[in-house]
Amino acid sequence: MFCPKSKLFVILVACSALATTALPAVAADYVTLIDNGASDNRVDVVFLGDGYTQADLSAGTYDQHINGYLEHMFGPAPSGIADPFPRYANFFNVHKIDVVSNESGADNPNENHYVDTALDASYYWDGTTERLLYLNSGKAQQALNAGLQGAGFFAEMKLVTINDTTYGGAGGTFATFAGGNPSAQEIALHELGHSFSDLADEYGGGGNYPGGEPFEINVTTDPAGGKWSQWIGYTDPRDSDLDIGVFEGGRYYNLGIYRPSFDSKMRTLNTAFNAVAREQMILDLYDHVDPLDGWLDNTVGAVGNDAVWVDVIDPSVIAVRWFVDGELVEGATGTSIDLEALGYAPGQYTVTAHAYDTVIDHAHSGDLLDLVRRDFDQLEQDINWNATVLIAGDSNGDGEVGLLDMGNVGLNFGKTGDWSMGDFDGDGLVSVADLDLVGNNFGKTGPQLADGFDPGSGNPGGGGGGGGDPPVFPPTIPEPASLALLLISTPAILRRRS
Ligand SMILES: [Zn+2]
Repeated sequence: MFCPKSKLFVILVACSALATTALPAVAADYVTLIDNGASDNRVDVVFLGDGYTQADLSAGTYDQHINGYLEHMFGPAPSGIADPFPRYANFFNVHKIDVVSNESGADNPNENHYVDTALDASYYWDGTTERLLYLNSGKAQQALNAGLQGAGFFAEMKLVTINDTTYGGAGGTFATFAGGNPSAQEIALHELGHSFSDLADEYGGGGNYPGGEPFEINVTTDPAGGKWSQWIGYTDPRDSDLDIGVFEGGRYYNLGIYRPSFDSKMRTLNTAFNAVAREQMILDLYDHVDPLDGWLDNTVGAVGNDAVWVDVIDPSVIAVRWFVDGELVEGATGTSIDLEALGYAPGQYTVTAHAYDTVIDHAHSGDLLDLVRRDFDQLEQDINWNATVLIAGDSNGDGEVGLLDMGNVGLNFGKTGDWSMGDFDGDGLVSVADLDLVGNNFGKTGPQLADGFDPGSGNPGGGGGGGGDPPVFPPTIPEPASLALLLISTPAILRRRS
């Protein structure tokens, strides 16, 4: 488009805007490929593609390139080549957006090869380095926005596969990689190291490093390596080339700058990330994810006669310890605790669930789970409840066992249910045994739940991410007819009281 030089700046801006090619063609909204849970407690990975024509998309080329990468990132590689991601696979959701290009591949200016693609991907992005394969990040952002419109989550890892076979990729806002190259998966992981965790390249190049202390965690001007002091001397059980110390050279210079290990994925592909990089990536995952997806609503207290529960993001990664009035409950390591079943007497208690990544138990052990040695608080989560253990038979938590409770049992007799329905012995069924308990304690008083709280409606759950709440049945006050029926049908209890 022609823009006359004499026009005002404002006009030039308008010309520039007009001269921009049309928005990238996004074929449709995003498609979710892996759904491990609500996105507010997952790391959302979003793929875009460039240089894929409609025919390429239809032929499955784009999907093939994405799936090849996902298998590499999350697959069980015994060598630890993709660590830490396989262990944290359930922390992720993965989505893709189809972006349609008019032609296949990417530009390669050195070969005078130019193709019309949606995101303008090109080798030699800096003008001198063939393998530097990047794209128009403004257009990529527009495609991302268009594809995720109304999605309700953000892309926390942005990967772009580019439909070319020549080796290349780059780490920036978007981690790009040549999807058709045999090293595509390793390129993508390396670039993700840059774009997700701000890792520096650990290879050398020129002479003396001229700058100040770099911001990246895995390079330093400090010959003592104080930045990763917690790892100095670590012997990596995966590969001795990954042992941690202080090695001169990195960030494109050979001298005056240091890296943590002799080799690593930020230096050479087909090598694992070293412990310093891996630790940073795990901590970065926890910027988006908490150990717990949800828990019994703790804003209204809890009833200790029913299970107090939490929902962990992944039980193979997260452990739970329970505390009552600040004391560890030995042996309580599941995702719920039932104070009454454990023998706690009627009364008020503070219950705490302490959820944490089990790597904390392995810190400094040197074993394969010794993955994090700092900032443990990011890997932990505590939830507290004011819990009341009620006297057996007090289904509505009013502090006494009376006619309302007996009526409640009668209404629910024979049904499956919880404490609020009259299941006092915790066998899941409202039965004769429960009627006996009401009878035994009839007229007795015990601790009372706060006003406006009852054992049924007090359990809406999901203080955190929600989800997985058990069904809730509010206690019901019997109508006169059913109360009469109950009195007729339970002579045993009435007799016992007489
Ligand atoms: Zn790099």
